Amino acid sequence: MRKTHCVKVGNILIGGDAPVSVQTMIKVQTSHTEEVIKQIKKIQCAGGEIVRLAVLNKDDVFSLKKIKKRVSIPLVADIHYNYTLGIESIEAGVDKIRVNPSNIPESGMKKIIKKAIEKKIPVRLGLNSGSIKIKRTGLVASIIDSALDSIKLCEDMGFFDIVISLKTPYVDDTISAYRAVSERCDYPLHLGITEAGSGYYGFAKNAIGIGILLYEGIGNTIRVSLTDSPEIEVECACAILQALGLRRFQPEIISCPVCGRCQVPLDRIVSRFKKKIIAFSKKNPDMKNLKIAIMGCSVNGPGEAKQADIGIAGGKDRFALFVKGNIIGTYPLKQIEKEFFSRIKEMTNG
Ligand code: SF4
Repeated sequence: MRKTHCVKVGNILIGGDAPVSVQTMIKVQTSHTEEVIKQIKKIQCAGGEIVRLAVLNKDDVFSLKKIKKRVSIPLVADIHYNYTLGIESIEAGVDKIRVNPSNIPESGMKKIIKKAIEKKIPVRLGLNSGSIKIKRTGLVASIIDSALDSIKLCEDMGFFDIVISLKTPYVDDTISAYRAVSERCDYPLHLGITEAGSGYYGFAKNAIGIGILLYEGIGNTIRVSLTDSPEIEVECACAILQALGLRRFQPEIISCPVCGRCQVPLDRIVSRFKKKIIAFSKKNPDMKNLKIAIMGCSVNGPGEAKQADIGIAGGKDRFALFVKGNIIGTYPLKQIEKEFFSRIKEMTNG
């Protein structure tokens, strides 16, 4: 991972040697305190580590104070247009503030930075293609220039606890912008493809954009952006980090796509086992390091099952069970689930 400055957001470090953190945004009005707290609980359960809340008015600031007292997750106030709400949010106790330098005047930015210095919290300079002034040089050059100007403003005030984001809805432009800025400064980067849409296409855009940058060692915290619930965003973010081998949130489950050679109901078995494995691993954190294979037939089944910590490979209405590379036995469909989970329990002292 590219070496960066490190900032502290509540109890989470961003940058330096810290693992890439997962964040998301609350999708109800911040003034609806109880609904926000409900969302935060779901986000934490899904693996979210930092939560951002939109602050549009004084009611939101008032609610921030109440939320802060009742949750343990670090809170980030999201500020556009009105710098006084930024100052009030910092006073309300948020752990970080996100400002959009494109829609806050320089004098307001300076006041927010002064307050952040006083309260010792970091600031994210959150540039976004939808709100920057696009010059003749084009979108990517404009967003890079805006970021560098905002960084200079902070540095001129002696403030270095900065996180940068340069989001666009386009994978190629976003990657170009982050690559360029990562070469010109060593501040931690918050990655995201903004307004990526929904469903498979939205996830693909997030995974490709964020994934390519992370694979190049660029990026310190990520937010998956989807027109969906915050916990789905968090689950997708965790999946991206795990697929890249950067974090482990749950056991690595390998299952085959099924084809005409399969003589067991593998799709049903995978979805049933997966649910149980994930629920079990939430109670047994040791289990997240396991590699588990659930395979349809003898073509690749025994090979993958042997390479996993525990694996099953389908035959004719039966499964062979492998533990740590050794075959333990073959079991009919009715029996395999019990055998499989009792071995997992033994392996994890569950
Ligand atoms: S493991 Fe067997 S059933 Fe599964 S996809 Fe490969 S050949 Fe088909």
